[in-house]
Amino acid sequence: MKKIAIIGGGASGLAAAIEALRLSKKRNIPVSVTIYEKLPRICKKILVTGNGRCNLCNADIKTEHYRGDKSLISAVIDSGFSDTLSFFNSLGLLLKQESGRVYPKSGNASSAADALRFMALSLGCKVFSDTEINKIEKRENGFLLNDKYAADAVILAGGGAAAPYCGTDGNGYTLLRSLEHRVTEVRPALVPVKCEDLFFKSLKGIRADAIATLFCNSEKLYEEMGEVQFTEYGLSGIPILNMSGLIDMDEKLKYRITLDLCPDMDYNSLKEFLETAFSRGKPTAADVLTGIIPKRLGEVLLKRIDISPLETPNNITSDAIAKITNIIKCFDASVIATTGFKNAQVTAGGLSAEEIELSTLCSKHIDGLYICGELLDAYGICGGYNLHFAWTSGRIAGYSAALKVTE
Ligand SMILES: Cc1cc2nc3c(=O)[nH]c(=O)nc-3n(C[C@H](O)[C@H](O)[C@H](O)COP(=O)(O)OP(=O)(O)OC[C@H]3O[C@@H](n4cnc5c(N)ncnc54)[C@H](O)[C@@H]3O)c2cc1C
Repeated sequence: MKKIAIIGGGASGLAAAIEALRLSKKRNIPVSVTIYEKLPRICKKILVTGNGRCNLCNADIKTEHYRGDKSLISAVIDSGFSDTLSFFNSLGLLLKQESGRVYPKSGNASSAADALRFMALSLGCKVFSDTEINKIEKRENGFLLNDKYAADAVILAGGGAAAPYCGTDGNGYTLLRSLEHRVTEVRPALVPVKCEDLFFKSLKGIRADAIATLFCNSEKLYEEMGEVQFTEYGLSGIPILNMSGLIDMDEKLKYRITLDLCPDMDYNSLKEFLETAFSRGKPTAADVLTGIIPKRLGEVLLKRIDISPLETPNNITSDAIAKITNIIKCFDASVIATTGFKNAQVTAGGLSAEEIELSTLCSKHIDGLYICGELLDAYGICGGYNLHFAWTSGRIAGYSAALKVTE
């Protein structure tokens, strides 16, 4: 019986195993599929996705929501949303949508992990847990892993370098390089950022709706409206996570993020609003700002422009109101760095699309070696796009590997 070895029991590895075994059953040619997983259990990362709810897909799948190699991305996500829905339907997992984001109906990530695990095992997939693969040797008739596990085809599904506590420490890239594959520069993405400002500590925990804009030197790179979270070291929240992968910590590049903390009003309307508000006789300047932004944030903004939060509103001049309007419309923070792979959800960069056949995800250098998931040079913004990419690329790799060994 031909053997397929899958390195990594995460999202793409499980999808690959299921697809490979389904094809072998359909063709009535038995194939042995084994997942080698370095952690004691498979599916660990799936359990922490979507804050434990697993945002596994999105109704709006399109290339604009992804970054990396566009030809690779369109080849993988081509089949789209409905294909992922049918895949989970075939695993007996009911789904629900919230503003386009798709979750297991149970509201629990473990339902998705269980559905994948049960289907893979019931189709006959074997799992070797606590087994890290650190050597892939290509032989004349197939592969030898760690000098002892033979396989006719190998699917590398070891994930990227983000969230190393889930088993993903970037060793997949090392394996790819050891097999002479080119990996583009990798960096953390969907990650909070550290900013230069003495005031961040006092803003910890505050959330505010804002338009966040990322600049590199003076070039505008990205803008998104949404809820921004202040942390003790800087900024987080969906707009910040979505821009973080664009931050390349090259010393010559200076990044800054501006926040428009009153996106519903233009500068003049806000200034007019503030002029009236300051004439209404609230006890302090900080109290006036509570009508627009959270109190602690208002206090910090006033301090940043050298106005005491305790100042009597009547003493605030028209020039001061202009300054307050400015800082609300354009709160500015210099980026020091991202908070690194430890806090990142995904990896930007990865195996260059030039190294693989896009229709099968088979290596162009090593026949029988397939690569899927986050190891590839592609990642999506928040919203279920990364898991969609993992399932879809895993299924392409699993199907192609099974087709090859059952030829
Ligand atoms: C906190 C968090 C929340 C997230 N939330 C979402 C979300 O809601 N929606 C979304 O779309 N995406 C989300 N993501 C991203 C998503 O989980 C990943 O993009 C996706 O899991 C990648 O799938 P993968 O199969 O490539 O790798 P992974 O799922 O990371 O699996 C790789 C597996 O390979 C194993 N492994 C690695 N190297 C070896 C080796 N040498 N030998 C054996 N085993 C190995 C690892 O232990 C791991 O189990 C989140 C990520 C994090 C960290």
